[in-house]
Amino acid sequence: MDKLWVNSGDGHVFEPKDLWQQGMPARLAARAPHGVQDERYDTSYVDGEIIRRDRAQFRLPRPPGAVSLDLRLKDMDNEGVWAQLQFPSGALYCAFIRDYELWAACAHAYNDWLTSDMLPYSPRFVGVGIISAMDTDDAIKEAQRAVTLGCKGILLCDGPPEGREYNLEVWEPFWSAVEELNVPLCMHIGTGRTYKVGRGPGTALINYCESGYHCIRSVSHLVASGVLERHPRLRVTVAESGAVWVPYLGDRLDEAYRQHSAFAFPPLEVPPGETIRRQVYTSFQHDRTAVAAVSSLGYTNVMWGDDYPHFEGTFGHSQEVLRDLFTAASPEVIQRVTQGAFRELFDVPPIPHNENNLVGAGS
Ligand code: MN
Repeated sequence: MDKLWVNSGDGHVFEPKDLWQQGMPARLAARAPHGVQDERYDTSYVDGEIIRRDRAQFRLPRPPGAVSLDLRLKDMDNEGVWAQLQFPSGALYCAFIRDYELWAACAHAYNDWLTSDMLPYSPRFVGVGIISAMDTDDAIKEAQRAVTLGCKGILLCDGPPEGREYNLEVWEPFWSAVEELNVPLCMHIGTGRTYKVGRGPGTALINYCESGYHCIRSVSHLVASGVLERHPRLRVTVAESGAVWVPYLGDRLDEAYRQHSAFAFPPLEVPPGETIRRQVYTSFQHDRTAVAAVSSLGYTNVMWGDDYPHFEGTFGHSQEVLRDLFTAASPEVIQRVTQGAFRELFDVPPIPHNENNLVGAGS
């Protein structure tokens, strides 16, 4: 069968082991996020916190291109992935840092490495720069620097530091600056502050779902407080959390706005359900309801994502996943999810394999 080519709204770099040593003073590098593996556990150390994952839960092999950009492009060709959004992997844990100086230094070092060692390699790599969420002026400067260096999105951690929630005035200059930069704010699960919710039956599944709830909460802050309405060119993407929660949350916010409007502050000009559908984008890997969100619920800001090279991704079977997802979908829905929504956010070269933007003519 012909290959279905896609742009992926969720991929990840694989940082070099000496990333922090290259770009930061040694006293800070020692506290930056780093991982240690033994026979049983993958353990990450972040600014005094320890995050441990049982390796038995993650048995899948790492794709060949995880650490080689040349092989990564070959993997992408084989899987039918043209452009790929590049989130951090280990550096996602920067969201757990509580020290202002450390987080800012990590963001600086990461953006330097991403934009000098990876992004110049291919226009198919679409970089997401990172910022510290602890100081607005610093976040603005680092976002501007990252975009100047070549990033096309800025990572917004889905669980902000306490006292810096996204509905608060303290962020207002940052929203204006990012709107001016004309790049989306990109959220990704696993960057909320509370990651583990407990022990006992079901916790592996519960924790994975919990890691996605933070971004949903943060999006409700951005919509309900009028941030997205005041900044109509500001767009937010949320990776790896499915899509159908957007129209759901839009309905919930509309209900509250309709029934509780006397208490709503600030007043909103348009129903929040319209704002969320217009300015919030999502990416998903396997969620069947995500395609239905486009075809049946009229929420069209949906991108597919391969989550390469992570365990939750589709490496090795991306084409089967896509065929299965789109079995009953119209060509318009397929085009929107595989390419259209992505190209609204990110300027990437057109896919040469299928200029008509539909099912590919083979690779
Ligand atoms: Mn991902």
